[in-house]
Amino acid sequence: MRLILFGPPGAGKGTQAKLLEEKLNIPQLSTGDMFRNAIKNQTPLGVKVKAIMDSGQLVSDEVVVDMVAETIDKAEFANGYILDGFPRTVAQSEAFDALLEKRGEKVDAFVAMEVPDDELITRLVNRGQGREDDTPDKIKVRLAVYQDETAPVLAYYEAKGRAKRINGIGSIEEIQSRILEAIK
Ligand code: ADP
Repeated sequence: MRLILFGPPGAGKGTQAKLLEEKLNIPQLSTGDMFRNAIKNQTPLGVKVKAIMDSGQLVSDEVVVDMVAETIDKAEFANGYILDGFPRTVAQSEAFDALLEKRGEKVDAFVAMEVPDDELITRLVNRGQGREDDTPDKIKVRLAVYQDETAPVLAYYEAKGRAKRINGIGSIEEIQSRILEAIK
């Protein structure tokens, strides 16, 4: 199964993706984690994306799509994956659909986790992972970028009849059950 977990920063996509890895027995594919690893290891990709990521803005569509294309080509992703943080623009969604089509594959499920802004801000401020982009001013940038560039991705998948929305407020277990129900 190819599942997209969608939602604003702080919606809990990463937390749920990690739990679903075991439940569904397919790997998580988090573009944010991949970029953070590249930065930590100071790879050429990491050096390229560090400033833009720290600012709270989006990495260019081309860089992200190339990275995802390379990743899903690996054997461990052959039976599916849980995407978290991608696609994040309509252009990424279109490029991803085209990529899958060429492979004779498709997105099986798209689940949007809905959480109000005030709750997101509280969660992100409290996350305290020492992430460069979890400061109040960067959080504001990320939520604005989400509204402008990422929220239209939901409409894109809804138009294709593939999107389900779930309430992202509740315990981790409750939210996991809602996701499992939505993808049944
Ligand atoms: P969050 O969902 O909390 O914002 P992520 O780990 O998903 O955190 O993303 C952190 C940052 O990584 C983003 O603000 C952006 O700079 C970069 N990034 C991750 N995924 C993408 C993507 N699909 N397109 C562009 N930039 C991305």
